[in-house]
Amino acid sequence: MLKRLILWSLFAGLTLAGGLVAHQKGVWHTASLILSERLSGESRSYSAMSFRVDLVDRLNYARIAAKMPDLKVDPDLDEWMATNFPTLALDDMDAVTRKIQEALPRYYHLSICTASGPTLKSLLAEFQEFASKTGPGMTHLGFAIRETMGGLSQQALVVVGQRLLDFSPEILSESRQEAYFSRCLHCKHPHIVRVSLNQHSLGLECPQCRRTYAVVAADQKKKFRYVNEFLTGYAPPAVFSKDIARINELFTICGAVHGNCIYTRDPGQRKEATDAWQTSLETQQIGQGDCEDSAIYLCDWLLTRGFQARVALGRYGDLGGHAWVVVRMNNVEYLLESTESTPDINDPPIASKAGSRYVPEVMFDRFALYVRSTPGQSWRSEADSYFSNKTWTRIEPRELNPASEPLTRKSTAESAPIPPEKLARTSAPNPAAAPFMELEEIPRDAAVWRMPLPAQGKKGK
Ligand SMILES: [Zn+2]
Repeated sequence: MLKRLILWSLFAGLTLAGGLVAHQKGVWHTASLILSERLSGESRSYSAMSFRVDLVDRLNYARIAAKMPDLKVDPDLDEWMATNFPTLALDDMDAVTRKIQEALPRYYHLSICTASGPTLKSLLAEFQEFASKTGPGMTHLGFAIRETMGGLSQQALVVVGQRLLDFSPEILSESRQEAYFSRCLHCKHPHIVRVSLNQHSLGLECPQCRRTYAVVAADQKKKFRYVNEFLTGYAPPAVFSKDIARINELFTICGAVHGNCIYTRDPGQRKEATDAWQTSLETQQIGQGDCEDSAIYLCDWLLTRGFQARVALGRYGDLGGHAWVVVRMNNVEYLLESTESTPDINDPPIASKAGSRYVPEVMFDRFALYVRSTPGQSWRSEADSYFSNKTWTRIEPRELNPASEPLTRKSTAESAPIPPEKLARTSAPNPAAAPFMELEEIPRDAAVWRMPLPAQGKKGK
């Protein structure tokens, strides 16, 4: 008995020296507490399972009192901790944070707390205080216990984190979070994407391979879609003569789109939603739209008629973002300006003659996005092809989240982001965070754009 008492006293002193527990009690008080708990057999009857239940209760009680959403136990986090905590060094908590984020890249912010004590029950109070310091954006928790001091002390590690939702346009529309988890469709690199809440269109660029793998834009109801999903299969009841040459059909459709869609950069009634994208049917009904609206209108119709067509998004000269349509027919590529008047059939707008002002960055048709295989490479209109498989990599953004998936994640939707200073121990945001490519500029100044072709002067004929 005497031997055990000495051991316990030694243990209490060492625990204090370790500095991991915020002890306010004296050594003798602690020792007597341990003694009484040990002798009463409480530590044996108080199982890890009871500790788990009490811990989650206490953490959430503190959060509910502070009007914060409650935390859910994350089995993935629990599993990682059960595997790693027995041998985990706790001298550098930032390193612990990094390890967790590497293993579970969905975690954006992490708050970590550890405590040691003679019994599991004695640890609960330590974590209660920690709970009140976790931010409102935190969603999940995990924890693990290990014995130290040859079984005389219990040490627990509690991790509270903001587990990000998987990016999808549906989730973006619903949850309006500041960050999402995503995985590059080109190189599979997992990373965090940050969103500015007032963006109407955005591209997801991989921080690893620097390639864009999805572009989304808000429709008129402020719901985001992958841009290719604006091509809904427009099929107006137009009748084409069976004998009409394909080139005539192409230009007839161009003429119809120009006639039915007045170019506008200030769509009046839509006001604050000026950057909202329209489907072909909406553009036809409204009778106006900006460059991407008319490009979608034209491309959608051409696709319905069996043309090999794509909407191109990129830059036009110094004017910034722009959208146009490209069509390939009989090995000839046409560049169609949907904001311009009908092209001259005697001097068709051949893409290779369009000059250096059109610089495509991404393209899309109904199902796929096409991105430059070598990001950052210059565009030479006379040599580069809009339809070359070498120049362009085809990707289907919907592979990120098949249609059935997005709505199942509703329950974990969260509210406002947490200010970092509110976290007890806040990890730096994941370095893989990628900014969204800014496409808001697309419709600007389009009214003065001209097709830089020699045919310009002949248009009045
Ligand atoms: Zn990548």
